[in-house]
Amino acid sequence: MKVHLDHVGIAVADLGASLAFFRDALGLEVHGSEEVASQRVRAHFLHAGGSSLELLESTAPDSPIARYLEKRGSGLHHITLRVDDLAAALAQLKEKGVRLIDAVPRPGAEQAQVAFIHPSSAHGVLVELKQAPSQAAALRVSRYTVGDLELISLYDGFFRLDGGAMFGVVPKALWEKKTAADAANRITLAMRPLLVRDGRHTMLIDAGLGDKESQKFHALYAVDRSRTLDDALAEAGVAPDEIDIVLASHLHFDHAGGFTVRDSSGRVRPRFPKARYVVRRGEWNDAVHPHERNRASYLADNFVPLADAGVVEFIDEDETVMPCVRVQRTGGHTMHHQIIWIESGADRAAFLADLMPTAAHLPDPWIMGYDLYPMDTLFAKQAFARAVARRETLVFFEHDPAIPAAFITEQQGKLGLQPTA
Ligand SMILES: [Zn+2]
Ligand SMILES: [Zn+2]
Repeated sequence: MKVHLDHVGIAVADLGASLAFFRDALGLEVHGSEEVASQRVRAHFLHAGGSSLELLESTAPDSPIARYLEKRGSGLHHITLRVDDLAAALAQLKEKGVRLIDAVPRPGAEQAQVAFIHPSSAHGVLVELKQAPSQAAALRVSRYTVGDLELISLYDGFFRLDGGAMFGVVPKALWEKKTAADAANRITLAMRPLLVRDGRHTMLIDAGLGDKESQKFHALYAVDRSRTLDDALAEAGVAPDEIDIVLASHLHFDHAGGFTVRDSSGRVRPRFPKARYVVRRGEWNDAVHPHERNRASYLADNFVPLADAGVVEFIDEDETVMPCVRVQRTGGHTMHHQIIWIESGADRAAFLADLMPTAAHLPDPWIMGYDLYPMDTLFAKQAFARAVARRETLVFFEHDPAIPAAFITEQQGKLGLQPTA
């Protein structure tokens, strides 16, 4: 069981006096307050490095905190340890003879699941175990109109990658201001495939991670697929067999994993039965001949079964793969990585894949350490800025945990972000 100190709970008789010390004298920032009705308590959270302090204020004279204050006065009340799988942690503790107050998880503050261990089993300390809420549970599809086309930003859950590797030469002191790292220095990334429809064709660009990977893989990348591409397509009202074109930006596992599924007999087959899969030939050749630097990203089961089934259509150039949808090779991230331009009427959108995986990657030097040819990424980003200078563009960020798309503008070579309506 892996545990992290989440917060320390402190029972307070006089909130104002407590804030005068913790907030004003120590300078800790209050980042939220919440009433937990079932416990008749109001909790105030203060940042303290990677953990928090929770000031507990009673809201009723007969609440557990009121009784605690009556008996012992203000002071340390409990510590909270965060675990990945609370039900599994409770089962393990029970097996070891630990006395539990809560045998099954119950709802706690901030939509987490919690359970208490009895102090008699924890050397006099009241220990709360907590499982953070699944971020993926909050994922929703979003719809956009680009000229005559309908674009639907989908999702396939979240995963985490090393924050240092995600920002290359940018120091942690800078990137940490934009995105928080976990105890393993990983940052959360979404997987957001894009659906494009014009009334005749239904195209899917990339398909997320899919569900063929092992528990070990899921733990390494903290995969959270409590809502997957299946849920996203159902929410969008699109059946898998309506998709007639699947387009790959490149073949890394977080983009191509959902191209195939393992069926009940254990055989891996194409996930979208009526689709042809459009892949850049150079990217395919690199993926089937990986080297030491990119081997971990190219998992053969994600694409080789497509060729076996005869559903791959190779392209060699920048070309139009469906009316109004054109690919452009950028290189950089991989030699044959491509972005997708969608233009209809006066409107234009771009799906940037790993050229700019998140909105934080907007500035030129914010380039992933994963990129095989980072200088080519830089040139491609600068060319993209020049293209956007001519015309406002709706940009899709495939890995941004919060922003599926935004309008990008350019002023004197610098890109700016404007939220969509
Ligand atoms: Zn990639
Ligand atoms: Zn990626």
